[in-house]
Amino acid sequence: MATVNDNYDKLAAGYLFPQIAKRAKAFSQNNPGVKLLKLGIGNSTEPLAPAVIAGLKLGVDKLAKVETYTGYGDEQGDTRLRKAIAAEYAKLGATVADNEVFVSDGAKPDVGNVQSIFSPDCIVAVQDPAYPVYVDTNVIAGRGGNYDDKRGRYDRFVYMPCTEENGFFPEVPKQKVDLVYICSPNNPTGAVATKEQLAKFVDYAKKNKAVIIFDSAYSQFIKDPELPRSIYEIPGARECAIEINSFSKSAGFTGVRLGWTVVPMECVCEDAPAGKLNALWNRRQCTFFNGASNIVQEGGLAALTQRGQKECKETIDYYMENARIIREGFSSIGLKVFGGVNAPYLWVKTPKGAKSWEFFDILLSQAHVVTTPGAGFGPHGEGFIRVSAFGHRQDIIEAVESVKKNLKI
Ligand code: PLP
Repeated sequence: MATVNDNYDKLAAGYLFPQIAKRAKAFSQNNPGVKLLKLGIGNSTEPLAPAVIAGLKLGVDKLAKVETYTGYGDEQGDTRLRKAIAAEYAKLGATVADNEVFVSDGAKPDVGNVQSIFSPDCIVAVQDPAYPVYVDTNVIAGRGGNYDDKRGRYDRFVYMPCTEENGFFPEVPKQKVDLVYICSPNNPTGAVATKEQLAKFVDYAKKNKAVIIFDSAYSQFIKDPELPRSIYEIPGARECAIEINSFSKSAGFTGVRLGWTVVPMECVCEDAPAGKLNALWNRRQCTFFNGASNIVQEGGLAALTQRGQKECKETIDYYMENARIIREGFSSIGLKVFGGVNAPYLWVKTPKGAKSWEFFDILLSQAHVVTTPGAGFGPHGEGFIRVSAFGHRQDIIEAVESVKKNLKI
């Protein structure tokens, strides 16, 4: 008799985006002809850089000739791309070898899959609020325990509150945990950890033989040269951190799909000596994954050339100008806005202590603007909404003007 993995029944989330879509649809049905203005989605909107398009075309052309055709590639990724990614770390003053880089079809699958190389007994700590994939994948793997509806938490996770008081970056856990998920620049809060803050987590992880899963999917949005773009800029991080990154937001590959994971040889945990975690991730990828698309990897290589980087940066600057427009517009009417300076997300405090969903509904009905309620990212997201800077400039301006003109607070 086949039985299902009943951990799926324990998933509390999966509710956020369908619920947003449901409310937006109901609004449109009740207000025919009213244009909905979207500031909720974390999806890229601008076309790929010309250098990247040329790279992708090169990848296609190679497949057309017998001399350059390739079938399955290395599961770990094209060596040229692994070297190019490693070289990016060197520019930051961080040491990463090409055999520590594993190219994939995106950060989300890696974030979801990486937990599988660890014991189901591991205690997991997550930032609260957080990108939901950290919580959900560990719930499915059986590490969450039971969901407490009243508290909005799973009883086996350790939640690290990210609040206005701590600048939306948490203290290290008081108790011993095994896996610590950190996302910086952060989705949803837009907060970026300083070197000192990351150093405390590295210190904690080394003392507790814990492993940090560092999600740096938005690292290219950091403008402040003092802020770390990789955890490997922190001394000792190679012994305790796995880093996951993506071409999605840095080069517009959300639909193209390309990412990578770094597992340093020195990275250890309680029962894994140096090299073992790297070997386990290698094994995992070789068993379950057949390598990223050769066409796409050619595009990724093009994105990492000097010309590619320059062009991709122009698109990032475009989104960051959107962020500035949102920040200034919202602040001008007295809203308290965080983030949006070194990250494409803005974290807006709801006025007069309104709940996230209440303020979501107010923005929708009064300004016709769709945002993302902070409560959907964890209990400490309550009282905030997430606003995304991804969008066409004209749409962003229209949405901000509508909020300025129509929102009554
Ligand atoms: N990590 C974070 C924090 C994200 O916000 C996202 C996408 O929104 C991802 C990872 C997913 O990246 P990818 O498109 O490479 O799967």
